Amino acid sequence: MDSARDKLAKIIIEAETLCELDYVDLKGYEYWGCGIDMVPRSWKKENKMRANFAKHPNQSHAINCDADAEEKIVEHGIGKKQSIRSILENTPGLSPSSLALIEKREHIGTSSDLNNKTTRSFYNSDNKNKALNTDVEKKSRRTANTIRPICRAFINFPYDRNMSLSIPGIEGDNYIKIFKALSKDKIEVYTKKKIFYSSLLLWGKINYNDDLLTIPLTAGIWINKKPDCTYKIKVDWSTWSKAKKTRLRNEIKLAQQDARQLKKEKRNKDNAWIFFIGEQDKENFDIFHVNDNRLICAIIGRIIYP
Ligand SMILES: [Zn+2]
Repeated sequence: MDSARDKLAKIIIEAETLCELDYVDLKGYEYWGCGIDMVPRSWKKENKMRANFAKHPNQSHAINCDADAEEKIVEHGIGKKQSIRSILENTPGLSPSSLALIEKREHIGTSSDLNNKTTRSFYNSDNKNKALNTDVEKKSRRTANTIRPICRAFINFPYDRNMSLSIPGIEGDNYIKIFKALSKDKIEVYTKKKIFYSSLLLWGKINYNDDLLTIPLTAGIWINKKPDCTYKIKVDWSTWSKAKKTRLRNEIKLAQQDARQLKKEKRNKDNAWIFFIGEQDKENFDIFHVNDNRLICAIIGRIIYP
């Protein structure tokens, strides 16, 4: 699973945000549906696997828990053929309703302090983040803390892009209005902030140094089937930890490799998509600046427009 609920703070967090924490409590997470323990994995290793949560092998979800059903909906692509709005309205995991970036957690207690009623966990964020801790809320759509689950929902549920969505700083109240594909044949000035997306330039070099990672995109101007002036994202990562840098670089590199492989297999409709929230450069309109790793992600998939 890509997310689990923090037992103390009672909020659902994305596995990839674990690498932001000073301390990861191995016993601090549970599945929101039925409350079984979820163990954080791969959050610090510089390996190929994305950070995730897994249940103990000898434990299973409660019979009435939605966890398996949620995975099946995505796996079987049910939402790619028709609207599944009623399901999305009633499951927290699939289609986030908003984005709220959680500021770094102050490490105060651990799960072993759970019985101690005076132990509190603090987030420097507004109270909106502290949703989903009641039984009623357990069954409703949730807030995401990176754009990834939101982007995944955009790909997975094309018939439900009219579902509500709220992103701080972006105009628009649903998925259709908030997402925007970068222009495929020109360099445009974008006056409104969106979650922009484009496929990754598969044979473009991904340059990086200590301060900057440059991600080449396919959107933009092509002449004679060659990229002439295409958009690129400059990630200012000068203040990031080494692990965080490696993680994003690997993610982009793997997405590029996987998509090249798909092309070889003639599965041309699947692509490596880069989604991001960034600032367009004031002089060079083909450049976008991103500096927060929670606001950029690569996802392999097929985007359809019903
Ligand atoms: Zn469960």
